[in-house]
Formats: sequence, C-alpha cells, structure tokens
Amino acid sequence: MNEIVVDSFGKVNLALDVLYKRDDGYHEINTIMQQIDLKDTVTLRDRKKGIKIECNDKDVPLDHTNLVYKAWEKIVNKTGINRGIHIIIQKRIPVSAGLAGGSSNAAAVFKGLNILWNLKLSEEELMKMGLQIGADVPFCITGGTAWAKGIGEKLTKIKSFSNNMILLTNIGVPVSTAHVYDNLDLYNKEKVADIEKIVRYIEEDNIVKVATSMTNVLEGFVIKEYPIIKEIKKDMIEYGALGSIMSGSGPTVFGIFDDEKKLYNCKEMLEKKVEKVIVTRTI
Ligand code: ATP
Repeated sequence: MNEIVVDSFGKVNLALDVLYKRDDGYHEINTIMQQIDLKDTVTLRDRKKGIKIECNDKDVPLDHTNLVYKAWEKIVNKTGINRGIHIIIQKRIPVSAGLAGGSSNAAAVFKGLNILWNLKLSEEELMKMGLQIGADVPFCITGGTAWAKGIGEKLTKIKSFSNNMILLTNIGVPVSTAHVYDNLDLYNKEKVADIEKIVRYIEEDNIVKVATSMTNVLEGFVIKEYPIIKEIKKDMIEYGALGSIMSGSGPTVFGIFDDEKKLYNCKEMLEKKVEKVIVTRTI
C-alpha cells in the first residue's frame, strides 16, 4: 500500500462556555462537541523524502503552518521513521469557520499515517500528539459526541447525538479563533445554558430540549462584528429550526431541524442572502 484516503469530518459545538483565562494564555472551556458528516478528504501518498501539500482551497496554507505538516512532523519525530509524504486535501469544510477543519485534517493525518506506515500507535498516543498541535485535534481523532473540558482536551464520551438534521450557513468571512478569545469580556459574558443539563437531554434523547437549550458564549462578540449572524439565527427559527446557534468561534451558524421539508425551505430562503448553505447531519 502506498496511498490511503481518509475522511476528515468537521464538528459543531452544541454548547460552549468559556470559564477563565489560564496563566499559560489558554482558556478553560466547557463544551459539547459533535462531529458532522460535512467532510474534507485527505489523501496520503508515500514519497521518498520531505513533504508536499496540495489543496483545492487557496485560503489554506501549503507550508509548515498547515496543521497536516505539523502532524506529519510529530509522527516522524516520535517514531524516527524518515519517510516523506504527499498530502492532498480536498476542502469542503469552510476555513476559519468554527468547524475545526484544520484540526480535523491533522487528525486524518495521524490516523492515516498510523495505518499507511503500520505504526501500531494507540488512539491515546495519537490524541496526546494531537493535543500538542491543537486543542481540537484529540476530539477530531476520537469523534462522535463528547463533553469537553480543560482547553478542549479533557474528553468524556457521551451518548451519541447522531443522525440529526443540520442546516449550516457560512457568511464567507474568515474569523480568527484567537481574535475572538482575545476580545472576550469574561466579566460581562452572556448567560450560558447549564451544560450539564444539555448533556442530560442528550442522554435522554430529547432532541427538542437539546436544540432549544443550545448556547454559545462567543456569539455576542462575533455578532457585534457581524450582525447578520443574529439575523440568520432568527431566520432559522422562523423557518422551523428547533434551535440555532453559532459554532465555536464562528462565524458559521447552524440549526437543528426535525422536519426535512422545513429544512429545505429554510435552505432556499438563506441561499438568497448567505454565501454558503450546507445540509449535513450529526454523526
Ligand atoms: P478552530 O476553531 O479549531 O480554530 P476553525 O474551524 O475556526 O478551527 P480552521 O479552518 O481550522 O479554523 O483554520 C484556522 C486557521 O488554520 C486558518 O487561518 C488556516 O490558515 C490555518 N490552517 C492550517 N492548516 C489548515 C488546514 N489543513 N485546513 C484549514 N486551515 C488550516
């Protein structure tokens, strides 16, 4: 085998609270992460020496700042294997959108190289290496539905919230995660739903209660810069979403639907005002 093709799934946050800034500059968060079936495709092709990265999206860097480069480097350093790699990323997940696209690509490289090079590294070892390049990488390696604390790395698997219909909209402007966290006023932050309670609703399979309780503490700040986010959330509810919030540090907004017809009506309406409108589902 000299090539492997890996699915690289995005995520949304069903709820996100930021607790405080730590001395090391990172923020402690409390969040529920949910993988979605919107995915990039990452192809790993053996190459004698060095790394070559290709991507169909011009906003993605092709140098050492790409998270796939960092993942390859970690694996090479840990195992001492001196092999090159050609990585081809087919992007479908919008970039800098709060959907963990880059982290997910890195996770795909960790998982893919482990198989391609027969490394026999455990998932735990891959997650440990992943954390060194990004807080969301461990979740992207394990996937599914998880309650995350710490900087996002303390993961507890909870009952799967899979197979729920999601409408996702992206306004087509990149939003830097660092910029949002740096400007967050933790003393005057908005009220956030009780995340423990949402976890309970997931355990009870109560999609309506999950959807109506979803909140994201980062929304207020991003809405100040992009008021259209508030409008999209309102539109989604008017068109029948059970609940709608921004994902991660935005600007992606998603809604959960339990009625396909309403979802497609909403999609048609939003396509008139937003650059990207994507139908997906939780996995
Ligand atoms: P997060 O919330 O984890 O920061 P995000 O979904 O908001 O993620 P990404 O799409 O992961 O944002 O991109 C964030 C930054 O990472 C961008 O500035 C981009 O240039 C850089 N980046 C590095 N590697 C990748 C990659 N493989 N795919 C997309 N962006 C990448």
